[in-house]
Amino acid sequence: MKRSHFLSFCGFIFAGIFISGCTTAPRPGTRVKRNGDEIVVAGQMFHTGTRVVLWTEPGGYDAYRVERRFASFDKSDWETSAKEAADLKTPNRYGLRKAALSNEEVERLRGGGWDLPTLQRVVDQFILHFDVCGVSRQCFNVLHDHRDLSVHFMLDIDGTIYQTLDLKERAWHATTSNTRSVGIEIANMGCYDNEESKPLQQWYTNDSKGVRITIPERLGDGGVLTKNFIGRPARQEMVRGNIQGRDVSQYDYTPEQYAALIKLTATLCKVFPKITCDYPKDAGGKLIPKKLDDADLKKYHGVMGHYHIQTNKTDPGPAFQWDRVVEGARRLLGR
Ligand SMILES: [Zn+2]
Repeated sequence: MKRSHFLSFCGFIFAGIFISGCTTAPRPGTRVKRNGDEIVVAGQMFHTGTRVVLWTEPGGYDAYRVERRFASFDKSDWETSAKEAADLKTPNRYGLRKAALSNEEVERLRGGGWDLPTLQRVVDQFILHFDVCGVSRQCFNVLHDHRDLSVHFMLDIDGTIYQTLDLKERAWHATTSNTRSVGIEIANMGCYDNEESKPLQQWYTNDSKGVRITIPERLGDGGVLTKNFIGRPARQEMVRGNIQGRDVSQYDYTPEQYAALIKLTATLCKVFPKITCDYPKDAGGKLIPKKLDDADLKKYHGVMGHYHIQTNKTDPGPAFQWDRVVEGARRLLGR
């Protein structure tokens, strides 16, 4: 080989090493770009295909913080909060999924360092709530600042999903199912015996296009991320149905909420193989509209309502379209 050829050969090899080095090792300080649709599960990110605001992001709601989010700042610290809000008992409004773990696992995971396979073994229920707050900002205010409760997700009227905690945490939203579940509070004013109930009259008014959600003035713009968003129930008519043996009426969720929930449900059923993409059904294949028997509840793994767990609950209410969500999620999963 001539000397000049040898040098260009060496240059070629060197360039090859340099280029492959560039593609495999990012430069220090390179930003990892998020799509904005990811949820966090045991520290790992999974796409949902719909807008998700994490607790670490601008506009997010952080259930890890001990101070109250909406109290005046100088009174928001934990010590003052514990004195002023009677229901706040512990600085952390969440805990460890301890009942599902061996002593050795408790020691391994108590610091928060969950691995995905262990979490996949533990989580087998996805529990749906309505928040009776109307908008997610107010929901977080009630749960975090007043009630000493928490939930992994909130779904606002414009379809924005807020994640407030990593799914590894045991959120406090569904009593006996907290250890094994992931929960979501869907913004909706809930259901009532009487169709003339004040919250329904206050929150639902008519304009030229039909029924619309009207956020009461005391809540400002409600914190809804989509500016000037006008929310409308997916069905114009109030829906009356029997839950827990009670006839109750409710306005449906918004189409934007259904679209987001379908994507989140598909994601959770994929990430957690034990969450069956279905809802509690009787022998005839019909929705069970009340609390499951204790034995059935213990066996059940899948998507479900809060009312399947407790007799004193009616959420997500008679208007909730179970088939729309479950069948939509199954289609996304190609099942
Ligand atoms: Zn509930």
